[in-house]
Amino acid sequence: MTVTDAALEAHLVATRKGRYDSYRDLLRIPSISALPQHAGDCRRAAAWLADALTRAGVEHAELAETGGHPVVYADWLHAPGAPTVLVYGHYDVQPVDPLELWTSPPFEPVIVGDRLLARGAADDKGHVHAHVMAAEALLATRGGLPVNVKYLFEGEEESGSVNLDRWLEENRERLTADVVVISDTGFFEGNRPAITIGLRGLMYAQIDVVGTPVDVHSGGYGGVVENPANALAQIIAALKGPDGRVRIPGFYDDVVALTDDERAAMAALPFDEEAYRQRIGVPALVGEVGFTVLERKGARPSLDVNGIWGGFTGEGSKTIIPAHAHAKVSCRLVTAQDPDRIFEALRSFVVEIAPPGVTTTVHQLAGGRPSLTPQDHPATKAAARALEATFGEAPVYIREGGSIPVCASFESILGLPVVMLGFSQPDEHAHAPNEWIDLANYETGIRTFARMWDELAEVPR
Ligand SMILES: [Zn+2]
Repeated sequence: MTVTDAALEAHLVATRKGRYDSYRDLLRIPSISALPQHAGDCRRAAAWLADALTRAGVEHAELAETGGHPVVYADWLHAPGAPTVLVYGHYDVQPVDPLELWTSPPFEPVIVGDRLLARGAADDKGHVHAHVMAAEALLATRGGLPVNVKYLFEGEEESGSVNLDRWLEENRERLTADVVVISDTGFFEGNRPAITIGLRGLMYAQIDVVGTPVDVHSGGYGGVVENPANALAQIIAALKGPDGRVRIPGFYDDVVALTDDERAAMAALPFDEEAYRQRIGVPALVGEVGFTVLERKGARPSLDVNGIWGGFTGEGSKTIIPAHAHAKVSCRLVTAQDPDRIFEALRSFVVEIAPPGVTTTVHQLAGGRPSLTPQDHPATKAAARALEATFGEAPVYIREGGSIPVCASFESILGLPVVMLGFSQPDEHAHAPNEWIDLANYETGIRTFARMWDELAEVPR
């Protein structure tokens, strides 16, 4: 680790214990945005962050109402002539089930070796907390930041950011900036520093198949009425072929093909498909034929059933034809695919192929556009220098399979370029049991953010 600011380093070393205590306090708040019973916890996490920002010396911290969970906004704008950065992160977390697979309770953070285990440790409270700590350290040691910074911490990222676009539109004026730094991404395989340049979009829908008004006897009605569970299975089986291609007509229309150069750059990344397979613990990797794992994950769209239910699922047997069956289906989208158009394509295909004798409906639950950011933007280059200076290794540029819908919103609503600067490890178990963060990454990440502001201050405007 190369650190050039001795005072900043000394401060960070001296305040380490208090910083871990503070980080764990934030992790203890079960801010699960998807579950209504945690709405109070989401608000509590937001208030906690507004307080922490204020204590760090950042100004105008407030909980801005969105109609859903509040946005935390704060700023520090005393660097005249320097660029203004809008920092984005989220304080909400994913649900924790299946709870029995956690080795310790998800909201009781524990340090095991080099790792801190808790829901949200990596996604995204680790990044959010590191930003607050970077500001605190810079303000404590220098009395100011090298750039103007506006902080925007959202509380609905894990449930589709449903209210954020409108809030961004309503707050265009005060969100004026030169660049957005999104800290919600991670490193490449083997903990190699990375800058994410591509994110997939998301279309999330539910399919409902309804037959008889109530469950009926499978002896009396089997062979006479359509079974909603069978019908749903038929529908789902028709959505994707054995070649991994999605069969919805028009699904690939807006996918921009990778250029030879892009394919070469992805192939040059240090990635071992077999080691990756073993780490996931599956007998084989599957997907769209003709594409590598990294291409399928970052540059090709996908379709998956996220949950499926209906009928009798208890112990033993119960001979019924269920009255209804349901599935949640999501697609990860790339390049020019529009979530609403993809939903419409899915809906009309499902309705077309649904067997007679049942009523099949499809409705959309969430959507977000994919995004691709320029690798040669001065702010991206500043982030690369900051990562190299702190982690001691130049970053690789990657396309991630996940989605941060707000990334596209910053581009389209605020007209701002986006740099994705995060530091969690690729196998951090985000969204899964036993989420963790490497504390060395978290510590160095704080220095990276501080260094990023120094690097951005040097960029000619
Ligand atoms: Zn996240």
